Amino acid sequence: MKYVLISGGVVSGLGKGVTASSIGVVLKACGLRVTSIKIDPYLNIDAGTMSPFEHGEVFVLDDGGEVDLDLGNYERFLDVTLTKDNNITTGKIYQSVLEKERRGDYLGKTVQVVPHITDAIKDWVQSVAAIPVDGQEGPADVCVIELGGTVGDIESMPFIEALRQLSFSVGPDNFCLIHVSLIPVLGVVGEQKTKPTQHSVRELRALGLTPHLLACRSAEPLLQNTKDKLSQFCHVPVENILNIHDVPNIWHIPLLLRNQNAHHSILQQLNLLEKATSPALQQWTKMAETYDNITDSVKIAMVGKYVGLTDSYLSVIKALLHACVALSLRPSIDWIAASDLEDDSAKSTPQAYATAWETLKRANCVLVPGGFGDRGVKGMMLAAKYARENNVPYLGICLGMQISVIEFARSVLGLERANSVEFDAQTPNPVVIFMPEGSRTHMGSTMRLGSRRTLLQTPDCITSKLYGNSAYVDERHRHRYEVNPDVIRTLEEAGLKFVGKDETGNRMEILELPSHPYYVGVQFHPEFKSRPARPSALFLGSGHSQNCLFITCNS
Ligand code: GLN
Repeated sequence: MKYVLISGGVVSGLGKGVTASSIGVVLKACGLRVTSIKIDPYLNIDAGTMSPFEHGEVFVLDDGGEVDLDLGNYERFLDVTLTKDNNITTGKIYQSVLEKERRGDYLGKTVQVVPHITDAIKDWVQSVAAIPVDGQEGPADVCVIELGGTVGDIESMPFIEALRQLSFSVGPDNFCLIHVSLIPVLGVVGEQKTKPTQHSVRELRALGLTPHLLACRSAEPLLQNTKDKLSQFCHVPVENILNIHDVPNIWHIPLLLRNQNAHHSILQQLNLLEKATSPALQQWTKMAETYDNITDSVKIAMVGKYVGLTDSYLSVIKALLHACVALSLRPSIDWIAASDLEDDSAKSTPQAYATAWETLKRANCVLVPGGFGDRGVKGMMLAAKYARENNVPYLGICLGMQISVIEFARSVLGLERANSVEFDAQTPNPVVIFMPEGSRTHMGSTMRLGSRRTLLQTPDCITSKLYGNSAYVDERHRHRYEVNPDVIRTLEEAGLKFVGKDETGNRMEILELPSHPYYVGVQFHPEFKSRPARPSALFLGSGHSQNCLFITCNS
């Protein structure tokens, strides 16, 4: 196994994840099999408990792992299926070491950060790197490891030490360190400053690691003079100084790296030049260029709770992008804070109320994404009602599907207090209820997580056509509540159809409104499996006007 470690310096938020996945793309384009590991030095065991407001979306894997959103970037860029173990956190490492300690596995020894934590990190990295993630047998050729945080953070120290030891034990031919840094421009003269990078490389070297390549983030391309300086002071050959300057869209980054011969430097370091081919990136080039040249756009209203930080719905945005590019449309996403649509907001914040409704009414389609808690649910119901009554394409994902069921029960069945027990435990008409797969009383792990099968009930529905008339679909889930099986008959008699159910027939997975051009709710999250070249079927269906929907169904 060959390792490419991506570390970061100077500041966070440099796009280390995108850099790391783009490096993976270039190596894959050279004919190599690539896997990846993301290290998050925080103490949380996983991202499951982290707030989307603060940390962005929780990405969900096939195996039910709730992981950092960077794993989503890897899955999308490399077109792989990762496991929860591909995301290492300090919490997971300590948990495994402490469990061993309690079992007495350390035979009376003092358990310490070095060597016990560092050994656990090395073992974890090496065993996870060997798991095939691309559907083929046997381990990949290269494992790209992204170390979260910036070098020098207290919490990343044990990881740096473990990776230093790993680099030593696997030998120089099997280890390539790429340090991502920032080159700011200061003052009126606009000089590109190398000092922060020099300091961060010095810090890395003090910890025993010398970068083989630098990936420098900057607004404008680096000047030759800047590169020479970096090379001299950072001990990195000038041809190994890569520059990731601002580009029109992130699909250009693998191309930018290829144009700078990044693959050559990495392959040389890893002694893979003979095995690899020259990078074939035709599809990426086409995608990046197509996107730059799209002129028509589609207005998508995203009605959600976490609209302040767009990373909270990163995969939904990416899925919309994939679908739109496939249809030569530019997604124009209008964020609507659901609570702004509510009657209360008309009085308290009339301006926000007016703007929210104007935006909703201007949209070509409406999407209500997943979410937890009752904030904004009234506004989401208003959006669903608006889309339903005005024949505007609607896609409700997870919470968005539950919202459409509650709205339908209230407006069409006249059950004014119909609700989900998540929002009103005492509701007389619980149309969405708690349906754990395991025990109802046992605390913890009550979420239905990961890939589950949905059986399509009839070929005569939009979803079935969009999914290519398949009898079933496997999509990822992350929810606790579901449509109450006891109300299905009544809802169906009133016109709402449940066209996708789980294998027991008890869990409603997909709803449609046949009287409407495109009104679809799904209990699962189709966004997690959307890929640039393979957009999710449901987004293709929703991300454009009714005419396009028709075209998609027939093509
Ligand atoms: N809060 C809802 C549930 O737990 C929806 C979850 C979601 O949208 N991911 O069922």
